[in-house]
Amino acid sequence: MKNIRKIAEWLKSKYKYYTTPKFDFVIVEDVPDLITEGKVFIISENNHPEMIIFKCPCGCKKDIHLNLLKDAKPRWSYTINNKGNINLSPSIWRKVGCKSHFILHNGRINWI
Ligand SMILES: [Zn+2]
Repeated sequence: MKNIRKIAEWLKSKYKYYTTPKFDFVIVEDVPDLITEGKVFIISENNHPEMIIFKCPCGCKKDIHLNLLKDAKPRWSYTINNKGNINLSPSIWRKVGCKSHFILHNGRINWI
């Protein structure tokens, strides 16, 4: 029984993984008026990335703001792989609202 539950959980996480849209990214100078779903906005002024904003992938419609500045905490960083997919680290954990916890890896949401 324990194994069946484990398999069911694994299938559920795989399903969630493949049904969550892939994220792409765009680098902009200013915070856009409209944060579109499935897009990571990297706010970068004069080649200095300051902030990342994107819509929560769970569908709750909330914007997630992540700090990229070295002197402020907590701080995230991003990399772009050779296929042009974005990675964010560390994981993102909303402490309010939907409480989503995930990793953005190669443009895909890995739910935790
Ligand atoms: Zn959410």
